[in-house]
Amino acid sequence: MEERILDDRGDYGRVGKWPAINPEFLPYDGRFGSGPTKVRRDAIDDLVAHSRDIMGTSHRRLGVTSMVGRLRAALKSLFELPKDWEIVLGNGGATTFWDAASYQLIGKRSQHLSFGEFSAKFAEVVRAAPHLDDPWVIESEPGTHPVAEPGEVDAYAFTHNETSTGVTAELTRPVGGQWGALVLVDATSAAGAIGWLPKHVDVYYFSPQKAFAADGGLWIAAVSPAAQERIGELAASGRHTPASLDLSLALTSAKRDQTYNTPALATLLMTLNTTEWLLDSGGMAHVVDRCGVMSGHIYSWAQERPWAQPFVADPAKRSPVVCTIDFDGVSADDLAAALRANGILDVEGYRKLGRNQLRIGTFPAIDLADLMGLTASIDFLVPRLIAEAEAAD
Ligand SMILES: *Cc1c(COP(=O)(O)O)cnc(C)c1O
Repeated sequence: MEERILDDRGDYGRVGKWPAINPEFLPYDGRFGSGPTKVRRDAIDDLVAHSRDIMGTSHRRLGVTSMVGRLRAALKSLFELPKDWEIVLGNGGATTFWDAASYQLIGKRSQHLSFGEFSAKFAEVVRAAPHLDDPWVIESEPGTHPVAEPGEVDAYAFTHNETSTGVTAELTRPVGGQWGALVLVDATSAAGAIGWLPKHVDVYYFSPQKAFAADGGLWIAAVSPAAQERIGELAASGRHTPASLDLSLALTSAKRDQTYNTPALATLLMTLNTTEWLLDSGGMAHVVDRCGVMSGHIYSWAQERPWAQPFVADPAKRSPVVCTIDFDGVSADDLAAALRANGILDVEGYRKLGRNQLRIGTFPAIDLADLMGLTASIDFLVPRLIAEAEAAD
């Protein structure tokens, strides 16, 4: 990077059309996306370390199956799952898992709490499935979340952390309603960062490119005995299920530490690396603290600024991993563009939400020192962008 000299106006020059940020403020690692998220250097190094013995080898042989086995064991231990739960995995990510769930987890009718882009998408998948009744969808305003209403449904679809709005919902099994109804939780941006109790959940599924700091391409699901039973029943029911979405096949393969077809191996290795790192650094209790401190820094910083405030009004619903911050008097798009020009990436708000907002990831792999650099960088930019906008008027 070219040397930036402080001129007599307190400026450090320009990067493209934007003010260059004082280099003392710049974070060491500028990746604050909400998914995909920052990948740890250690995970990449681990891939390189396995470049000859694991990468490029058969997923039916001990080298790879032992990695799948290690990942299954590590996730069971991280989530403190009861013995009879299974970790199942397959190709395709959470989006593919929605399709699979529509075949072999929902019997007839499901209830969906819809409070953002991702929770709405699963409800759409179910609405389009010809073999299912129309879903019962309960919506709420972006920035809030609805509450389940026990009733005549055989599955509840919850989202632990709505990545599009930065809202977290506590997971509680609905009491009453149809006996044996399953609780299916899209935990894509929550798994490995936000606590939960297995007694409230039947299927906790996610893609590993968010809190697990890996790459896309896999879905991973923690599956309760009741959900395993449902999968078996629906597989035997005569409902036609495409093999790539057949959870009974995925479950059988998982029990042999395999996947039904060739897995995204680099993603798997990086997920394993992060999971073992999370366990070694103190497990969920530690990671919950860590994300609480990092998101706490962002929210309290925003509250102390006249031109910023947390989007989610209820502090209890504010995500500890995806901080959505509204701006007033300065364009969040300009701010994101200026940050990007300075090497600080992916803090743009969720497009479809249409707010003057930044969305900042505070996932376990991110460092507090870098978040402090980010807020110092925003503090540096905002008065300058306001002054420049006024001068241009
Ligand atoms: C990112 C995300 C998804 C989609 O994950 P893919 O791996 O792209 O399929 C689903 N749900 C939530 C909550 C997400 O954050």
